[in-house]
Amino acid sequence: MATEKSAVFIIFGGSGDLAHRKLYPALYRLFKAGMLKDHFAVIGTARRPWSNEYFRQTVVTSLEDFDDDKRMMENFAMHFFYQSHDVNDSDHYIALKQLASKLDDRFETGRNRVYYMAIAPRFFGTVAAHIKSEDLKTDGYNRLVIEKPFGRDLKSACDLNDALSKAFTEKEIYRIDHYLGKKMVKEIPNLRQNNPKFDEILNNKYVSNVQVTLGESLGVEDRGGYYETAGALRDMVQNHIMQILGVVAMDEPEVMNAESIHEIKGGLFANLKDLTPEQVSKKFVRGQYDTDKIGKLNPYRKEDKVEEDSNIETFVAGKIEFNNERWADVPFYVRSGKRMPKKSSRIDIVFNEKVEAFGIRPNTIVTLFIEPEDGSSILINGIDYREVKQDLIKYPEDPDIFKGAREAYESLFIDILAGDKANFTLWEELKSTWKYIDVIREQWDAEDPQFPNYLSDTMGPDTADTLLEKDGNSWIWN
Ligand code: NAD
Repeated sequence: MATEKSAVFIIFGGSGDLAHRKLYPALYRLFKAGMLKDHFAVIGTARRPWSNEYFRQTVVTSLEDFDDDKRMMENFAMHFFYQSHDVNDSDHYIALKQLASKLDDRFETGRNRVYYMAIAPRFFGTVAAHIKSEDLKTDGYNRLVIEKPFGRDLKSACDLNDALSKAFTEKEIYRIDHYLGKKMVKEIPNLRQNNPKFDEILNNKYVSNVQVTLGESLGVEDRGGYYETAGALRDMVQNHIMQILGVVAMDEPEVMNAESIHEIKGGLFANLKDLTPEQVSKKFVRGQYDTDKIGKLNPYRKEDKVEEDSNIETFVAGKIEFNNERWADVPFYVRSGKRMPKKSSRIDIVFNEKVEAFGIRPNTIVTLFIEPEDGSSILINGIDYREVKQDLIKYPEDPDIFKGAREAYESLFIDILAGDKANFTLWEELKSTWKYIDVIREQWDAEDPQFPNYLSDTMGPDTADTLLEKDGNSWIWN
């Protein structure tokens, strides 16, 4: 049984999609595991005038896809309280403070607080400012959880960070990148540490190139309005892809703790090889989906809440390089797109012929699957490693990684409750990645792309293949 934790969670945006689809089911799993038991409460805040009873019903409904233990779900929901709230109204924060304080006493939570921003990003700064001005912070711990997106360019990210920093210290801020909560991504540092031989060949002497693909089969569905303000570059590359690169490419920390991991990762991102505006068209390509071969699916420009002449990209591929000794001249090819033939997030590490010196077949490819298999396989040259018993990679001790892996949000809540920031992004990392992404965005915004340029249910525009062919390489997943 897990060690019980105590806290009051204040979920700003408690009636929303993220809260119901991800946060409540994740908290419920912790409740079932005994990590949350008697000493916790959840306050959901949103504009609508809901009663506690109605809120609790919505919480139970959100769990029904995951469980049928009605009694357990109802016991869980009894810890939930609703507070109607407008983010700009100071009086509402005072009411919120009184409710939280009452729940602290009732559930003996040690006055620990998790403030979760499951609300539109434009409100993040306002809410943080009111938490400070209305004096909501307590003498327990106060952890602020921020959802993505963290800004839309370096300038807005700096503004947001300044606003948050007035109310919370960097140590108290947990910036979510849910890919860092995915089991396989979380496991990579351990996999490297437990396999010195594998780690020893992760460098420019033995690696020909690394490929990271975050592919989705769906289009924008009902999120066209949001997507029109984002695009694949901001939505996937600046955060998730960069963070995955960080985990794969960072040097091994001396000790496996948040501080060392962040120090090393921060150093890696500071070493992103500069990109000039002139290099953008040589190193990055973009695409937007059309209908499919039989004309059944909507092109992006016909999706709900999307402009008919939208130039927003739904696909991006690029070549990222690092300016350090370990990775000099190794291309990290990255790719993310909607309406690809299937959903698959994976990392392909392509070794060169020199690995033979390690008794490993030349041109070995190690593939780490992130999802939908959720960390279930490591393939070496297409063969499931469990069958080949090659000793390039040993499976970690924890067998859980290859079974029903924890959902990312559950895993991230465990970290938040433990005060472990290893799987969250630090401000310095974000600053470096935004600086890099801004060069591409500014260049693209100044040009007129020929969209749409790829059919739905394909691997994206041809230019994504040419990008690698120019270097004598090709996508492993194609
Ligand atoms: P949503 O629109 O479903 O929910 C927004 C919530 O904010 C609702 O509870 C709404 O009542 C509340 N709200 C809106 N205006 C308010 C105001 N003035 N005062 C108080 N409350 C107000 O949005 P969502 O999809 O749940 O997204 C929430 C956040 O999570 C966003 O920052 C989004 O970028 C991020 N996010 C969402 C997802 C997802 O899968 N939904 C994934 C990643 C990140």
